[in-house]
Amino acid sequence: MMFECHPLVCIGKDRCMNQCFTKRLDAETKIMKTEEKGWALFSKSEILKGQFIGEYVGDLIDTDESKKRLEDAQLKGCTNFYMLTLDRNRIIDAGPKGNHTRFMNHSCEPNCETQKWTVNGDVRIGLFALQDIAAGTELTFNYNFDCYGTGITKCKCGSSICSGYLGVKPKTAAAWQVEKRSLETKMRRLQAKSVQNTNKPVKKPNKSLANGPYSEQNEASTSRRSKKQINNNATTARNERSNIDESTSANHKNKEGKKRKHLTCSNENRKKIKMN
Ligand SMILES: [Zn+2]
Ligand SMILES: [Zn+2]
Repeated sequence: MMFECHPLVCIGKDRCMNQCFTKRLDAETKIMKTEEKGWALFSKSEILKGQFIGEYVGDLIDTDESKKRLEDAQLKGCTNFYMLTLDRNRIIDAGPKGNHTRFMNHSCEPNCETQKWTVNGDVRIGLFALQDIAAGTELTFNYNFDCYGTGITKCKCGSSICSGYLGVKPKTAAAWQVEKRSLETKMRRLQAKSVQNTNKPVKKPNKSLANGPYSEQNEASTSRRSKKQINNNATTARNERSNIDESTSANHKNKEGKKRKHLTCSNENRKKIKMN
């Protein structure tokens, strides 16, 4: 947990650089509609690693209220959720009211992250850059969420390590290598077996059969299929998770919600994200 300086206590006075939340030192961003992912947040100028993007704001609700809202949303067939767990009992719902941060999409390889800060004695959540970000780049964070709802939402982040679905942890490159090696060993064993069993001459020998029934090509495509299947199994097991999809226009007309607490809410798009 990080602590922000209190303006009345910090000896740095006006020069204090540790009051991003209090002074709303948000990065320069713009909300734009994308073709693939609906609404998204982009950097307007260069953002440096560690820079504050903005505070995640919305209705401050308890778990009972969040359950109620999620049930309502389900009944209405709503699939977008903007809820983020603040602590054990409190949830920020940016569905009915929020600021630019609610337009940030999920990515399996994000360039921003959420951080919990203590500001003037209370916990608040901010979005911070994980790396230097050039102007005009989409800003994303990993929802890491633990959601209610039905169905699985396909991830459109486009990362090379994309898990394929929201809420499924992306595999690391190392994990993919391990999986690939074990699949290759399996295929080689199968290959050896089938060569033993196939003593009949092949009628029309061609290139792809030169190395036996499982050519390199076949092997590659089979392991791809298996990977896909493994991935699908992983996602099926998580059908409790809910959808966070691209934002819809209805809510986004409502851009800058300045108040943080006690706002009345509608039952439109929401997401629930669990902080790790
Ligand atoms: Zn200070
Ligand atoms: Zn992804």
